[in-house]
Amino acid sequence: MSTAKRALKKYFGYDKFRPLQDEVIQSILEGEDALVIMPTGGGKSLCYQIPALMMEGVAIVVSPLIALMKDQVEGLQANGVKAGFLNSSQSTQVQNEIIEDIHEGKIKLLYVSPEKLVSQEFYYLLLQLKVNLFAVDEAHCISVWGHDFRPEYSKMAYLKKQFPLVPVVALTATADSLTQKDIINQLGLNEPKRFLSSFDRPNLSLKVAPGKDKFKSILGFLRQRPHQSGIIYCLSRKACEGLSEKLRNSGVNASYYHAGLSPEERAKRQEDFINDDIPIICATIAFGMGIDKSNVRWVIHYNLPRNIESYYQEIGRAGRDGLKADTLLFYSFSDVIVHRKFIEESALKEVSNAKLERIQQFCDAQICRRKILLSYFGEHLEEDCGNCDVCKDPPKQFDGTLIAQKALSAIVRLKEQVAAGTVIDVLRGSSRQEVLSKGYDKVKTYGAGKDVPHQDWQQYMLQLLNLGYISVAYDEGNALKLTEQSREVLFGERMVNLVHLASMKSEPTIKPIVKTTKQEAREGLFEALRKLRLQISREENIPPYLVFSDATL
Ligand code: ADP
Ligand code: MG
Repeated sequence: MSTAKRALKKYFGYDKFRPLQDEVIQSILEGEDALVIMPTGGGKSLCYQIPALMMEGVAIVVSPLIALMKDQVEGLQANGVKAGFLNSSQSTQVQNEIIEDIHEGKIKLLYVSPEKLVSQEFYYLLLQLKVNLFAVDEAHCISVWGHDFRPEYSKMAYLKKQFPLVPVVALTATADSLTQKDIINQLGLNEPKRFLSSFDRPNLSLKVAPGKDKFKSILGFLRQRPHQSGIIYCLSRKACEGLSEKLRNSGVNASYYHAGLSPEERAKRQEDFINDDIPIICATIAFGMGIDKSNVRWVIHYNLPRNIESYYQEIGRAGRDGLKADTLLFYSFSDVIVHRKFIEESALKEVSNAKLERIQQFCDAQICRRKILLSYFGEHLEEDCGNCDVCKDPPKQFDGTLIAQKALSAIVRLKEQVAAGTVIDVLRGSSRQEVLSKGYDKVKTYGAGKDVPHQDWQQYMLQLLNLGYISVAYDEGNALKLTEQSREVLFGERMVNLVHLASMKSEPTIKPIVKTTKQEAREGLFEALRKLRLQISREENIPPYLVFSDATL
């Protein structure tokens, strides 16, 4: 048995590693920086706890959730792990005692808040210790794209500067490429290894329903699931309270939770929920981070979540025991308006709006919902899932390979630097000023999609995005990019099924992409791709072979 496995058994009582845990542990032991992306419940904590226990010295665990630190540390102590925490809520005396414990080797894992980590006094403490690892948990919080970003987080890069030989591992359940890039930047990670485990949670059923008669639907939903525990996410505190009261009046044992409650009250309700004393909780997004309750059987979104990351993270709290669990999202446009208002006041308008639009597209889509979600996280699901509302009542489809090829080829020829509207204009041979002035009318696919109306192209583009054949770079003016799978489509190695549009009477007649032979078309595209690769490689100063190997580019 490997030493890591022995530690797994000894401290945690488990016999087997979950996917990627062993690999992450080995990489940390080899002193490499790492970025670990695993869905909630995937088992991220062990990835740093085990190497911390195996190495000499102390590991510093940065956790932005002060509220959870105590629970985590007590949990570890109960397993016989020497752990402690330091944060600003403790008295100086308590802090001094802990510091003494560290010096005496009584602490192998020290949990700290980011504020503490970047403080002067903590830096002096670090200088006196033998630190073997820095682990940054819930690392999306340190990204400007994540929630809860606080300016002091941007000082965290000092770790790598001051302690270049100590490995840093960042862990998160948020997989979008912008956040990943930002975490790496904020922490100044040195060529981190990326560990991305599958986000698929096949045991969760997915359903989106129109946001009307919500209360009646919920009562019906609950009647079919007596004695089950679940979470209803609401957008506002008022909605949590109101809904919980209405449920109680209908004889349902529900309570509510939001950041407006006192810390004691919050802790109590959280505990009651975990112990099944309150089976149903109406909550804002303040609820659930880090809560380890395995038998949540369903999650309802009373309101539209603000983006796909939040949605996925929230439904991910159901079915952590691996048994069947159900999710239901109520979608109404009035929620979109509320979100837009919030976004108006926020600093990251463009990206937030783009992400809001993306979840609307998810709700509107007629494509296997799991396919859409996984493609959003850079994964490709080959078959429809069979466990979502779309799969259970599938729409009519047709062979849309040619349409897809035209769209993708236009994207390549526009050097993956152009947003959807312009790609469509080029396909349709528009003589709009911008198209002509930039010379897009000289591109080979100019006018190649004249026979499809503009609004239909929009729908097809959206479907291709939802199917994972296109991705959007929100930080590059929403430029459309190819994905791994789209290359196979371009080279005729993969067929694409598209959904019939409501306006469509028969399958669209569309002429083949270019009038050359398949071989020539292929070579032409290879050539375009090769040039693009070289260009990006020069501009970004990365080796050409890496340019397309990673979804973040
Ligand atoms: P995350 O931080 O990724 O959301 P956690 O680290 O909190 O997940 O782990 C979720 C649950 O899975 C915990 O109860 C943990 O004890 C359990 N777990 C982690 N690794 C294993 C394993 N190798 N075998 C069995 N259970 C595990
Ligand atoms: Mg965790």
